[in-house]
Amino acid sequence: MTARTLDGAALARDLREALRPEVNAFTARARRPPGLALVLVGDDPASHVYVGSKRTHGAEAGFRVDVHERPASTSLEDVLTLVRRLNADPAIDGILVQSPLPAAMGSEAARQLFETIDPAKDVDGFTAENVGRLVQHREGLVACTPSGIVELIDRSGITIAGQRAVVIGRSDIVGKPMALLLLHRHATVTIAHSRTRDVAVVAREADILVAAIGRAGFVTPDFVKPGATVIDVGMNRVVDQAEVIGFFGEGSARHASWRQRGSVLMGDVHPAVAEVAGALTPVPGGVGPLTIAMLMQNTLTAARRRTRSET
Ligand code: NAP
Repeated sequence: MTARTLDGAALARDLREALRPEVNAFTARARRPPGLALVLVGDDPASHVYVGSKRTHGAEAGFRVDVHERPASTSLEDVLTLVRRLNADPAIDGILVQSPLPAAMGSEAARQLFETIDPAKDVDGFTAENVGRLVQHREGLVACTPSGIVELIDRSGITIAGQRAVVIGRSDIVGKPMALLLLHRHATVTIAHSRTRDVAVVAREADILVAAIGRAGFVTPDFVKPGATVIDVGMNRVVDQAEVIGFFGEGSARHASWRQRGSVLMGDVHPAVAEVAGALTPVPGGVGPLTIAMLMQNTLTAARRRTRSET
């Protein structure tokens, strides 16, 4: 059996297309486009790529997208001041501070910044207020990656209610909100993490398995119940040629890509899982593009709510 591919990139394109007339209607009504501010601190290459994609897709869909870049030497106070200014800016509906922040800012910097963002503009859904609203299943702004995953599962015609779901990973930005969204959709949810005993045995219970770990190829076929839906959130850069050959085979397309670029991007799910799972998201082209589409959706939602509350 070869798993059905859940094409997140195609769905993300559809979602962005569907958003465009709604953005235009907002712009006509409010006499300004919905505004998104992206704050990028430091020189992490992956963060620059992610912010670049968010800027391009946002602009294509009709949003105003401002990128505020600051060097790694910037103080936390400077970034906090910027966020407060964006909170007060009436043309900005959404604020996103790209993670990770430079280590020199300290371990509490991200939390302090998230707590400074106005919850009404928190399009990442990371503030305590929005997380609390999610826990209580009330209206708020929900983290983009998990909400994109639910959209993908739904649009693929896969039932969530009543299913056993296992989420491997308990981060604030993926694992926990993912588990809550699945719970709200009436799945029976287990969260596994680095202290879980026999993770493979726990994972094999799942009808829907979400891997959000950050370890290339960690989820092997013995983690997967035959026919299960497997969602691969991981984004891992593999540089070692022997590892690439071990995962994809000598002379494979990925091996050829490694020869060109010196690295390949892969998820937390081992390629051999495709022989066991019923449905599987690819990396790249699965969860990643949906995250950006949901960011646009959240920004439009925030813009509508803000203009509604102003009138
Ligand atoms: P994270 O904060 O590092 O969390 C990783 C989680 O995996 C932790 O809860 C950790 O458990 C768990 N874990 C680590 N080793 C494990 C093991 N051996 N067995 C079971 N669980 C283990 O990472 P994250 O921010 O959630 O991101 C996870 C992955 O998703 C990364 O590859 C990231 O790049 C990717 N990601 C992709 C997108 C996208 O748009 N596609 C968005 C966000 C993140 P403990 O809590 O016990 O340490």
